[in-house]
Amino acid sequence: MKDHLEELRVKLGGINKELLKLLNERAEIVRNIGEIKEKQGVPKFDPVRERAMLEELTSQNNGPFKDAEIKHIFKEIFKASLHLQEEDHKKLLIVSRKNQPDNTVIKVQDCLIGGSAQVMIAGPCSVESYEQLRSVASVLKDAGVKIMRGGAFKPRTSPYDFQGLGVEGLRMLKEVADEFGLATISEIVHPAHMELAEQYIDIIQIGARNMQNFELLKAAGEAKIPVLLKRGIAATLEEFVHAAEYIAVKGNTNVMLIERGIRTYEKWTRNTLDISAVPLLKQETHLPVLVDVSHSTGRKDILLPCAKAALAAGADGVMVEVHPDPQTALSDAAQQLDIPQFQQLWEGIRKSGLFKEQE
Ligand code: PEP
Ligand code: MN
Repeated sequence: MKDHLEELRVKLGGINKELLKLLNERAEIVRNIGEIKEKQGVPKFDPVRERAMLEELTSQNNGPFKDAEIKHIFKEIFKASLHLQEEDHKKLLIVSRKNQPDNTVIKVQDCLIGGSAQVMIAGPCSVESYEQLRSVASVLKDAGVKIMRGGAFKPRTSPYDFQGLGVEGLRMLKEVADEFGLATISEIVHPAHMELAEQYIDIIQIGARNMQNFELLKAAGEAKIPVLLKRGIAATLEEFVHAAEYIAVKGNTNVMLIERGIRTYEKWTRNTLDISAVPLLKQETHLPVLVDVSHSTGRKDILLPCAKAALAAGADGVMVEVHPDPQTALSDAAQQLDIPQFQQLWEGIRKSGLFKEQE
């Protein structure tokens, strides 16, 4: 009895090996078919042919497996085969690290983003006045921060809220930045405004609400200056990376990605900072990856640990909102740091040893 069981097990093992060999032989043929289909430009999935194969198989089925079971087993084989064909011909994205193993390093004035040093981007949520910009710019200059942010076109939730100073805001930002020798970043919301951006600012920001505004992405792809793309409020990383590809495919590969929190059920923060996005985006793409600690938390009290977490996870930089008098700010009053709070944060970041400054 025992010998017989052993004998049957040996037989089964042999059949398994044969099945394995046959399955892989089949997979090779499937791959060749995939090649031909790719060249002919026909879809890999052919439901009519799959049904015909299943019918042929069940018509020859003498059991003991029932037709439904045979169908189930072969459907799994077909599924795995289709997956194999799709994997073979998956389009390699321009932004993919598989396409370019080395980091993209973006030069903005004398600042390098995505290289061995990290960057700090700071400034008010919105451009409001010359005095406001000058007080922030002078602090940034003294602190050694090279890039100042400030929104001129504000995508606000309510149409009744402050919408930004528009072109006038960009002009003010440029004037003050030039006075203090800083580079600038500001959000652009209309495809027709790319030339305006080239004229007044150094980096185009595409906001979270516009991450999948494809016409805007295409226009930014034709612009001659770098782009900072924010992660959409409810965007997956796959969607985020594809949005960056929209810009890159048009020729502008100077794209930086910024995690700015995603919407979850959590209410103690404005959004949920997805730290895992940092190593994943660094792994999947060759683009610089930054973290906006202000919009991801919507708070002022946990920015240092969040910034440290971002840098420890491999972020190339941090963005933070600073306003000389946050209480009177025309947008995001609750989350903007005042100047002493910014200085304290900056000191904490520098002391952490996680922020490598450019030489
Ligand atoms: C901003 O940075 O000013 C802004 C509006 O951010 P987000 O697009 O991430 O909401
Ligand atoms: Mn803001």
